[in-house]
Amino acid sequence: MDPIIFTSEAANTLSGALASLSYSRLVVLTDANTQSNCLPTIFEALTNDSVFISVNPGEINKNLETCSKIWAEMTEASLDRKALMLNLGGGVITDMGGFCASLYKRGIRFINIPTTLLSQVDASVGGKLGVDFNGLKNHLGVFNEPETVIIAPEFLKTLPQAELRSGYAEILKHGLIRDKAYFEKLKSENWENQDWESLIMHSVGIKKAVVQADPKEVGLRKILNFGHTIGHAFESYFLDSENHLLHGEAIALGMICEGFLSFQKIGFSFEELNQLTKMMLQIYGKVDFSTDQLDPILDLCLQDKKNEGSTLLFSLLNSIGDCDYNIPIKREEIREAILYYHNLKTA
Ligand code: NAD
Ligand code: ZN
Repeated sequence: MDPIIFTSEAANTLSGALASLSYSRLVVLTDANTQSNCLPTIFEALTNDSVFISVNPGEINKNLETCSKIWAEMTEASLDRKALMLNLGGGVITDMGGFCASLYKRGIRFINIPTTLLSQVDASVGGKLGVDFNGLKNHLGVFNEPETVIIAPEFLKTLPQAELRSGYAEILKHGLIRDKAYFEKLKSENWENQDWESLIMHSVGIKKAVVQADPKEVGLRKILNFGHTIGHAFESYFLDSENHLLHGEAIALGMICEGFLSFQKIGFSFEELNQLTKMMLQIYGKVDFSTDQLDPILDLCLQDKKNEGSTLLFSLLNSIGDCDYNIPIKREEIREAILYYHNLKTA
């Protein structure tokens, strides 16, 4: 398991991590936003011969075309197999950078410095790397561990509010699947006033424990996918539209729908469903779509990696804080769950 370091001094911690590794050259991957907002914070820790690669930001660029550009620049800089990659950015950069590092010359080592709330609590921990392909989320990928993950809440200062809210969805998920007391604590505070540092540490603890118990997702790790089968379908469906959804916004919608399935199929109570629904709507509002869009969204659900053959296997809640997995669900049942969401009143 990778060593995860929490720090309030990202540059110092990075210097220490770099000093402890032997490598030929450092290659730093950013997107345009983390290049301007985050790179200056750690710049003093980098040596003069570092190679800098910056890509366009956003999920829309998390694909093989961007990887090709990254690999071309790495090749151009003559990086060898002892090069070390530093991924400085949100989940798009840590997922795609780790993927590029894992394939370049059959694999070079990498370090992650996650700079969004979402990537600090979730994406940069657990070794899942990859990119989207042909409109399908994370369709190409590998499992591989970074040398180190450096988590510094100081980066959140420049993060737009909508991105902070998106990351909060994964924090809520951690409470829902694994820790009722945590969820109750989150519920009692206005989301904007949360103590991010302590939530990041607690959430990383939950994610780490689950991943450690089942690194390759043959069983328990599937609970981390709660909200993601339906959530990913919506995220993919709206990806290149004007009203595209941030990952956490899509997952919040997915958690309402999959909460409904939990109520229909296993022990999740009506009262808990209402609690979950109300909370998600209050924070994330409601996503508008028409019933004509249901079939293509259902088709995307069926493409999900969490399926085995033609059966859709969902991770669903027995109760708040307790999640079960491998629950078979039919297409028509998913339709009903999405309709439940569609028919909700926002007020
Ligand atoms: P992101 O990387 O696109 O970052 C969101 C936006 O914030 C981008 O525009 C980025 O440029 C900007 N940004 C990043 N850090 C900033 C900072 N400190 N200040 C200002 N702007 C900043 O997206 P994300 O929400 O971090 O991650 C979403 C991705 O993570 C998705 O692709 C999702 O599939 C993936 N993910 C992976 C895992 C995993 O286990 N590997 C888990 C959850 C999510
Ligand atoms: Zn997620």
